[in-house]
Amino acid sequence: MSESLSDLDGETDVEIECAVGIDEPDYCDGWSETVELSEPAEYDGEVGRIFLPGLNWECPECGQPHEFEVEGIRVSNLV
Ligand SMILES: [Zn+2]
Repeated sequence: MSESLSDLDGETDVEIECAVGIDEPDYCDGWSETVELSEPAEYDGEVGRIFLPGLNWECPECGQPHEFEVEGIRVSNLV
């Protein structure tokens, strides 16, 4: 398992888990899936963000659109 976002750079298959299912099990039964990206993940060290091309930021279980764990690392698409 990766320990930091920079380790995800260049990955094309990432395991995504809904953060709501982890933090608030009452609201989400939990969802995790290995997602194949349309292009390799790109880590921008300057802003400390990971870009995941082709990832649909929405949990199919609860509809939560922005906070997930990627390979066990908490990631938000909100700045
Ligand atoms: Zn969810």
